[in-house]
Amino acid sequence: MGVNNLSFFETVLSFFDKAAACTSHPKGLIDQIKYCNSIYEFKFPVKRQDGTIEILQAFRVEHSHHKLPVKGGIRFSEMVTQDEVKALAALMTYKCAIVDVPFGGAKGGIRFEPKNYTEEQIEHITRRYTAELVKKNFIGPGIDVPAPDYGTGSREMAWILDTYRALHPDQIDADGCVTGKPIAQGGIHGRTEATGRGVFFAGRRATCYEEDMKKLGLAKGLEGKTVVVQGLGNVGYYAARFFQEAGAVIVALIEWDGAIYNPKGLDIEAVQKHRRETRSILNFPGARNFVKNTDGLEYECDILIPAALERQITAQNAPNIKAKIILEAANGPTTAEAEKILVEKGIMIVPDTYANAGGVTVSYFEWLKNLSHVRFGRLSKRFEEGSHKRLVSVMEQLTGKSLTDEEKKIITRGADEIDFVNSGLEETMYNAYDDMRETMMKSPQVKDLRTAAFVNAINKIAVSYLQMGIWP
Ligand code: NAD
Repeated sequence: MGVNNLSFFETVLSFFDKAAACTSHPKGLIDQIKYCNSIYEFKFPVKRQDGTIEILQAFRVEHSHHKLPVKGGIRFSEMVTQDEVKALAALMTYKCAIVDVPFGGAKGGIRFEPKNYTEEQIEHITRRYTAELVKKNFIGPGIDVPAPDYGTGSREMAWILDTYRALHPDQIDADGCVTGKPIAQGGIHGRTEATGRGVFFAGRRATCYEEDMKKLGLAKGLEGKTVVVQGLGNVGYYAARFFQEAGAVIVALIEWDGAIYNPKGLDIEAVQKHRRETRSILNFPGARNFVKNTDGLEYECDILIPAALERQITAQNAPNIKAKIILEAANGPTTAEAEKILVEKGIMIVPDTYANAGGVTVSYFEWLKNLSHVRFGRLSKRFEEGSHKRLVSVMEQLTGKSLTDEEKKIITRGADEIDFVNSGLEETMYNAYDDMRETMMKSPQVKDLRTAAFVNAINKIAVSYLQMGIWP
């Protein structure tokens, strides 16, 4: 079968195989890492407003149990298939390993279009899905911990938690059964924007090495870089916002119903406001519309950020892509055949398994918070402030100079939960990028960042299995 005929899961397998060939692990161990451990597909009924009964198809796939719990989002979309959920579950395994989050990978999905259902029906569907997962032991703080993904958000996560709690009234760690919850339900500050912020950190790290940027004909840093973003949802909107705040210029934005461009830059907040008011990004004042939304992917820019869905960059449009860097915010946006074309063109691809790992990283922090039953910073904030104040006062005495009240406030402030979350995320994203880069520099067979990311993941997962003593 040619690479252009590959399904999403087969595409992930092909990326995996390419990387596995750069390692020396035995075939049995490689196969154990590669395939999905458990696949649960089920159906349940939902009553529509007109009184008819519809049967929905749902999935939960646990790809790897080398670490527990397994972790991965839940997708609500009429395009959900078993193949897609398997691919996304596998990507979760590698993503967690790449950023040193101690979870196996999983993913879930329900095949329906939420836009066509009432809020009440979506709540019923979410709760019923959760009850089915409980019945089969596919959810729990130490077993399998879902999170938001395409078509779901904190509202759905709150329903999942409430349903799980109702079925486990005596479980003290129940809050850890799902992440991406509202703050009042045990969620963590910074989770909503975490994936977009992680994409931004990935872009900032990738562009900070002068010699790497030189090869692409770019200067180092994000300042002044032109950026195109596809998908202005949770991930795309925050990524665009953080890039803009760092001095990058958003020259085009692509949504499902069309795309807009302005070489002088689009203000992301103003576009969001326009979208809220008109229900579309099209006809934004000062910008021009693209006739076909996918034309936006081919627009001249330094960094292209696909942040909508999988399989958007294909063999058809890859030859026309002008970006120097593709920062994969969505899962699986590039097909295997497109990847070959892009690599031959010398385009740098910062892979999804790394670039969008900010969400799972902060989900990990949320899960830790739930298990420890205390907000980050609660025990240390006042103590830190006191120490900083004493230090400032000693410095003032020694130098005979004093700071203004405003300067003192900035310097002595103790860290809040959001500070820990954002600094932990930045540290994670930078370290993981440097690990991939090092792998590429150390092994001549590893020629691109995606392969480097997979090699690092395979090596870490292999160590887990070997330490379990399963493999001689
Ligand atoms: P979302 O539902 O919040 O947003 C998706 C956006 O893409 C929407 O605005 C939608 O209108 C738009 N869209 C749909 N079809 C499009 C098309 N053909 N062209 C352009 N835009 C289109 O979803 P999200 O949570 O932002 O997820 C986006 C991607 O990021 C998915 O691939 C998801 O798996 C991945 N991801 C999400 C998270 C997370 O924390 N939410 C974490 C990791 C990866």
